[in-house]
Amino acid sequence: MSKFLGSETICPHIALFPSAGMGHLTPFLRLASLLLSNNCKVTLITPTPSVSVAESTHISSFVSAHPEVNHLEFQLPSLQPPPNSVTKDPFHIQFDTILRSVHLLHPLLRSLSPPLSAIFSDILVAAGVIQVAVDLGLPHYTLVTFSAKYLSLTAYISTMVSDPTKLKCSTEIQIPGLGPVPVGSIPPPYFNPNHLFTSVFLSNARALPEVDAILINSFDWLEPETLSALNSGNVFANFPPVLPIGPLVPYELKRKEECQYLQWLDIQPKESVVYVSFGSRTATSKDQMKELRDCLWKSKYRFLWILKSNNVDKDDKEDLDTLLGDSFFEDTKNRGMVVKPWVYQQEILAHPAVGGFVSHCGWNSLSEAARNGVPVLAWPHHADQSVNAEVVKKAGLGLWDSSWGWGLQNLVKQEEIQKMIGQLMEDEKLRITAKKVGDEAKKAGEIAGSSNKVLMKVLRSLVK
Ligand code: UDP
Ligand code: UDP
Repeated sequence: MSKFLGSETICPHIALFPSAGMGHLTPFLRLASLLLSNNCKVTLITPTPSVSVAESTHISSFVSAHPEVNHLEFQLPSLQPPPNSVTKDPFHIQFDTILRSVHLLHPLLRSLSPPLSAIFSDILVAAGVIQVAVDLGLPHYTLVTFSAKYLSLTAYISTMVSDPTKLKCSTEIQIPGLGPVPVGSIPPPYFNPNHLFTSVFLSNARALPEVDAILINSFDWLEPETLSALNSGNVFANFPPVLPIGPLVPYELKRKEECQYLQWLDIQPKESVVYVSFGSRTATSKDQMKELRDCLWKSKYRFLWILKSNNVDKDDKEDLDTLLGDSFFEDTKNRGMVVKPWVYQQEILAHPAVGGFVSHCGWNSLSEAARNGVPVLAWPHHADQSVNAEVVKKAGLGLWDSSWGWGLQNLVKQEEIQKMIGQLMEDEKLRITAKKVGDEAKKAGEIAGSSNKVLMKVLRSLVK
């Protein structure tokens, strides 16, 4: 029996239901690992087939490392996107397919033994899981995989408008109790009600008052005003409690092979390397690739650049020489590395040689930077990332030049990137404040830490 749950002999049995993409799967696997270490029984439901190879690989290695997990593959029907949909992004289509199929989960969950104590669903499937949880008489918690600030924005937009194009009328929107969000930080698809991204996010946000509580991969110290405004009822009436349980701690990944880039990091001086990565599914345009390449080529800094040229890993086939040219590699061979396949980012960010992180501001990447106290140069590309960038800047974790706009829409020239990388690597004050974020992030997860206490309270309530 876990020391945290006291002397009870019954442990909660929790169904975890992530949606699509590594940005959603990763926090669920981290939470699964945390629940297992606290003696919970875990049923992991994974929508199948997944979009990326990274998802299926991580699921199977997690399940084989934890044979005690009850793994249920949720076979998705093949659905056509709605006829007026304006996106071809396979992740957006998958979010929509999962949301429209969730009712089929019911028979899978009804007969589990021991019976379930609760369902923890991904925020992007919450609206569909509500009825399943009601039918099964189960508490339903939803896990928010992005910042509390972006949760507020999405929830606010979902209540504010039937016609999201109205958002364009002002330069900022005022969220009661929380202050302004510049219109430039609102994800562009929100202006188009027919975009699947919009319909999926907003329909889930509208359903939030019906979940029992919101678990969020953030922590009190990082977003104190937002969390307290949401929980005081000043932002929305009828909003469920928002319970910060982050930053969720990475579980140990068993490396099958020696990684050249980790060996290379081992021989670089402390805090000398700029790490550049835009997450698991953000492709860099050819023009932007060239600007970034020329910036790294001319700059004096060592670098490790993870380059994706397609947003789905199995379609990312172009080789690095074709993309970047031989002479770049020849000239930078002693101070830089570019990698295309999947990397162990959690190990990179924990490596002492890494001095700064140029990031698209996916919330998991930022949580990893926060835990390791690595200064971030925020370069949001789409979705929640500009709002996350504001959180980073405010917390003292990083720099953000909002005039760069969205990475998927604007081209940032090499001179500008170079200037910001210089600041990232040389700003001693930033290094100190980022380390402070690291200390606070680690503290939140300790036994007496704020996030751990919140999660233990939830688990205790489920064994009653
Ligand atoms: N990641 C990784 N190796 C890669 C690419 C991504 O380990 O080659 C991890 C990264 O550490 C993070 C997750 O995948 O945990 C990506 O989630 P995030 O929210 O940062 O961005 P997204 O990929 O959803 O845009
Ligand atoms: N896209 C991409 N990588 C991503 C997400 C999106 O390359 O991680 C591409 C994809 O082709 C998608 C388009 O960008 O259809 C729009 O994506 P997003 O949801 O971010 O909308 P935007 O903000 O660009 O309007």
